[in-house]
Amino acid sequence: MASPTSTQSQSSATAYRLSREHDELRALVRQLADERIAPRAAEIDAKAEFPWDLKQLLAEHDLLGTGFEERHGGTALDGIGQAIVVEEVARADATTSLIPVIQKLGALPIMLAGSEEQKDRYFPRLASGEWLPAFALTEAGAGSDVASVRMRARRDGEDYVLSGTKRFITHGSVANVLTVFALTDPEAGGRKGMSGFIVETDTSGFSVARLEHKMGIRGSPTAELTFDDVRVPAANRLGEEGDGFKIAMSTLDRSRLAIASQAVGIAQGATDAALAYAAERRQFGERIVDFQAIQFMLADMASQTEAARQLTYAACARVDDDDPNLAYWTSAAKLIAGDTAMRATTDAVQIFGGYGYITEYPVERMMRDAKITQLYEGTQQIQRLVIARRLLARAGIESRGR
Ligand SMILES: Cc1cc2nc3c(=O)[nH]c(=O)nc-3n(C[C@H](O)[C@H](O)[C@H](O)COP(=O)(O)OP(=O)(O)OC[C@H]3O[C@@H](n4cnc5c(N)ncnc54)[C@H](O)[C@@H]3O)c2cc1C
Repeated sequence: MASPTSTQSQSSATAYRLSREHDELRALVRQLADERIAPRAAEIDAKAEFPWDLKQLLAEHDLLGTGFEERHGGTALDGIGQAIVVEEVARADATTSLIPVIQKLGALPIMLAGSEEQKDRYFPRLASGEWLPAFALTEAGAGSDVASVRMRARRDGEDYVLSGTKRFITHGSVANVLTVFALTDPEAGGRKGMSGFIVETDTSGFSVARLEHKMGIRGSPTAELTFDDVRVPAANRLGEEGDGFKIAMSTLDRSRLAIASQAVGIAQGATDAALAYAAERRQFGERIVDFQAIQFMLADMASQTEAARQLTYAACARVDDDDPNLAYWTSAAKLIAGDTAMRATTDAVQIFGGYGYITEYPVERMMRDAKITQLYEGTQQIQRLVIARRLLARAGIESRGR
């Protein structure tokens, strides 16, 4: 029998190593998050209000410009540095961690396909945190199946006229500028006939139709957006007509790393909270942390969180190198990290016992927040599809699945 093809990733071994600067960055963000963000987390969750004060705090500490070049006022951190910022903020509060996540997500289509004029116009205001962006791809009928987008962008002289509705757009109601995907050629369909646009939210015809009531990340507004003949100049198109699907997919291939980082942070927060509680709580005359059953749960939580973190950093290095196989790595990181966050937070609630189930303690919030990391920027099923397709391609096996 011929030896089977190796399913191991063929990309050259990209080394990654944490530096002293990474450690210093983590210490700085952790202190800020422990002192200023964690104490606000329960209130943000209860009131479901966007934390403008914490947006300002992150901006003042240059933590919203980590993914932007210095010439645009950013701090140009490498991928691992950007991951550390999201991780440490998410360890304290998942809602607030979405502020740096979306600052990058909303800008990524411009980073990947924008002109120099577009970058010069928007990036300084995004890097400083003066403006908030949002990424508007999903529609009611186009979730996992992105290519079935229905929103139209009709060319009219020197402008495009956008009409349609977007659903589930994070920060859609607080954003100043959107990257939006719409059909310029409906007959060609979503894969070939979609184009990307930059839309400023004070443009006539744009409105926020409603906000969702959610299980978790409750301070992060998730909006339905209506475009009623919104006119944008042709200069706001990203790349060429028909490039939209490619731009949106390249964006998600990279941005899901930020969700992996968010998930690692949530898992770490839950593990830390559970360990601290177990060391205090006494039953049967002993600290519960002395029971082996509790120690084993903590050991699983800590080791799985570390595995998810290291896979995320390995994926960060691939993205920094623009590795042709980066989608495999970022999907694997998001898959493992999202499932780890869900498992670790569920176990944290278990370790807290009945106290884990009440809002006086943070772990029930963390468990509700963790769930979204298995859903957005591609569900876990879609990550498995991305991984499996590359796995099969590598082995020379034709995929007949959908
Ligand atoms: C809080 C929140 C914030 C969001 N933020 C944004 C944002 O900022 N911008 C944006 O554009 N979108 C955003 N989204 C949308 C999000 O990315 C989608 O909800 C997600 O991709 C899933 O799409 P769907 O909800 O339509 O589920 P569906 O696609 O309807 O999926 C339903 C189920 O079917 C499964 N499924 C679907 N297709 C397949 C398949 N081929 N094989 C196996 N299983 C499959 C899914 O995994 C899932 O379990 C957000 C969503 C939420 C809830």
